[in-house]
Amino acid sequence: MTTTERVAKVVLVDIEGTTTSISFVHDVLFPYAKENVNKFLRDSWKSDDTKQIVQDLQQVPQFADYKDTLSAPPAELDAELITGFVRYLIDKDLKVTPMKTLQGLIWAQGYASGKLKGHVYEDVPAAFQAWRDAGLRIGVYSSGSVAAQKLIFGHSIAGDLMTHLSAYFDTHVGHKQEQQSYENIAKSLEVAPEQILFLTDIPGEAAAARSAGLKAILLQRPGNAPLTDSQKSTYEVIPDFKPLYNLQLP
Ligand SMILES: [Mg+2]
Repeated sequence: MTTTERVAKVVLVDIEGTTTSISFVHDVLFPYAKENVNKFLRDSWKSDDTKQIVQDLQQVPQFADYKDTLSAPPAELDAELITGFVRYLIDKDLKVTPMKTLQGLIWAQGYASGKLKGHVYEDVPAAFQAWRDAGLRIGVYSSGSVAAQKLIFGHSIAGDLMTHLSAYFDTHVGHKQEQQSYENIAKSLEVAPEQILFLTDIPGEAAAARSAGLKAILLQRPGNAPLTDSQKSTYEVIPDFKPLYNLQLP
């Protein structure tokens, strides 16, 4: 740990593999959406939100591919057909925008009912508190939608952590492995890029952030993909947020 890395105005955190276990997303959230999509569509089939999502889902190119996989495609568009398509997208890990919107609505119901609680590692709430006590701002940058980010932190196993967060970014700002995205974030936060410390588990994201002038540290949480020796020598690698409890303002 170098002293320069301990100095920042904003800490920008990734979620999956950084604040939250990858298995929560893959073993809890995605299966929850898959299990509840049919009931959600049936219950809300006539609502304007769902009508719009269903219309948008039919526009994505993979919809035709999906229909080709069916031995007897239904003559009429119904909740069963869309359910099948959404499950197909989830299985193939195809993150199309209307599907992300639909998943967000399904998760919102799950969180509201208490059936879902966002996973965060135990050092996360303590780090958020320490950083805010030190006068730093905390932002989130995740490929999950801003709505999904707010659900995870607003209904976390450690309570409502949104009180600590002042900015949320998803792929509307750009893709996570592109330099421009981090330039956009710095501009939006109105701070110099070098005053932002980005925490992530993905070396390609750290590289993009660094090329935009941000500082970047890699997380090696349990269940994350192993890092190569060259990645370990390129970036500071930490197992959790504890080494960062004492971040300071410039
Ligand atoms: Mg990640």
